[in-house]
Parts: sequence; structure tokens; C-alpha cells
Amino acid sequence: MKNLKDLQLNEMEALLVALGEPKFRAKQIFAWLYKGVSGFDEMTNVPAALKNKLEEAGWSTGVFVPAKVQISKLDGTRKYLFELSDGNAIESVYMKYKYGNTICISSQAGCRMGCKFCASTIGGLQRNLTPGEMAEQLLAAERDAGEPINHIVVMGTGEPFDNYENLSKFIRIINDKNGRNLGMRNITVSTCGLVPMIETFAKDFPQVNLAISLHAPNNDIRNSMMPVNKKYPMEVLIEACKKYTEETSRRITFEYTLVKDKNDSRENAFELIEKLRGVLCHVNLIPLNKVEETGLDTSERKACEAFKKILEDHGIPATIRRELGDDIDGACGQLRLGGKK
Ligand code: SF4
Repeated sequence: MKNLKDLQLNEMEALLVALGEPKFRAKQIFAWLYKGVSGFDEMTNVPAALKNKLEEAGWSTGVFVPAKVQISKLDGTRKYLFELSDGNAIESVYMKYKYGNTICISSQAGCRMGCKFCASTIGGLQRNLTPGEMAEQLLAAERDAGEPINHIVVMGTGEPFDNYENLSKFIRIINDKNGRNLGMRNITVSTCGLVPMIETFAKDFPQVNLAISLHAPNNDIRNSMMPVNKKYPMEVLIEACKKYTEETSRRITFEYTLVKDKNDSRENAFELIEKLRGVLCHVNLIPLNKVEETGLDTSERKACEAFKKILEDHGIPATIRRELGDDIDGACGQLRLGGKK
């Protein structure tokens, strides 16, 4: 089936006109889709004949029904497993923060970036998700949790900049005032460092937040954790980040997973300060979430606190991320890639 949620409003208008229907029907259908209806039946002001026509032409509303929902006893975080029509599966995580409800969505089924600490890459890349499949993760979670979600982080399985065209379309669709109308500033995209795309992203979406998975203070350590660093080494990445902040005047978040005896020493903290000097940024320290297959261990609390203090003492704002959903493997780097089951 083709997914109506893969269409921007102008494309939906063109579709309706091609089907011999008035253009204004597109706006009605578009609005219903992003109100989170669970099918054509709930579109009460759309004629039945038109709904039938769309179905006969092979169009669906692209609704996901979770195959599995795990709810954290610790903090109410919900991890969803969605089965896609082609047999792939993906995961999304719904989290409650003080500033609002947030969904962490996947942008690909699997990932080919090979980061050593990450469960999502263990089986490689299966395929890119479509714009509608990204949007539906939010809508399905809202239907299940019964509460509105006002922040999206594209930080689940996949490298969003490896699926840039669909990512861009998804952002435009979810931001459209005729539909979900989610503010650009309420969206964060996280990349492992595909440098050429950072410049493109700054031009296309200067208001969307950018996070960089940095995880290391130098090339040796980063090479050993993240293969992407061999193609785009740290100095090239940091230069692109500097340019990004100059062009957009927006602060970048650097994600830094603290791994015991790997990147969590005092020396590492000082190295990181040198690298980030002059970049408008914030560092999000993430004590590693253990994934058995990776053989890496979590930094001790004391080491995390000491690392944070050194950064702050040198003028770099840092936080230690409060991990949500640890008891359901919903935390960063713990999402499986849900390949073919
Ligand atoms: S951390 Fe992100 S980019 Fe790296 S392998 Fe995992 S999903 Fe892919």
C-alpha cells in the first residue's frame, strides 16, 4: 500500500485533483492524519466515496499498531516495537521530561555506521524509513499514551543524515501548520558526524536543533569507537560545527557517552575542552548503557561527576543525562535494530 503520510500537502492536493476530487479535500484529509486518527473511518467530514476511491487506488493512512509496548517501572518511559509492512521492525521511545513529552524516533531500520557501543548497528542497515513512517511513530505513541507529544528527537535507530531526503520531508510535514504544526525548535536531529550534511542542514533547517554524537576527545579514541571518524576526523567535524553555530547562531549539543577506562579520564576531559574551545555548545554526558555484545563498561558515577566539573570549570556547560527507561533497554544505544524477525 502507498502511505498518505508520505505526502506533503501540495502533493496530496495534486493526488486529489488527479482523482477528480476538489483540492480542498486534501486539506481536510491532511488535518485528520496529523490529529492521529486510526483510520479513514474517523475522518467524519470526508465523503465515503472518496475514502473508497483512495483505498481502491492503493492508499492507506499508514497507521502503526504497536507489536509490543514496554513501560518502565522506574519512570513511565514507554518503548514501542512497530512491525513494518515489509517485515522489518523499528523501535521508538516515549519519555516524560519536565519540559514536555518527547518521542525519540528511528530514521532507518538498522544502521550502517557501525558505532561500537550501539546495539542498533549490530545487524547492519535494512532500509531507510519513509517520512510517513517517521511521523507515525509520534502519532502511534500519542494514541497509546493518551497524551500529546511536543518534542521529537531523531536519535533512535539509524543515522538521519544517511536518509536526508526522507528526513527533510518528514520535518516539513510534521511542521506544516495545516497538520501537526510542531515547531522546528521542538525538533532535534542527532548525527554521528556526516560532515557534508551538516552544512546542508544548517541551510535547510536553521531552527531545528542539532546534536552531534562525539563520544571521544581525540581521533585515536574516536576511530576505535566510531568508524565514521576515519572519513571525517574530529578536526574536520569540529570545524563544520563551528561554521554551523556561526551561520545559525544556535548552540550545538555534543553527546558524549562515558565509557569506563576508554574516554572518561581527567586527561580526556582536558583534551575535550581544547577541542571544543570557541564552539557555541553544550555537552551531554551519558554514562554508557550496557549492551552485552559490545563488551564495554559503564563509567563510575564519581568519574562522570569529575568529568562534568572539569568541563564546567572551563566554561563548557555540561549535564549528566538522566537515563530514562533503563529497565526496558530504552536508553541511548540500547535500541536494537529490529531487522527482519
Ligand atoms: S549510534 Fe547512531 S549512527 Fe552510530 S551505529 Fe548507533 S544508530 Fe547508527
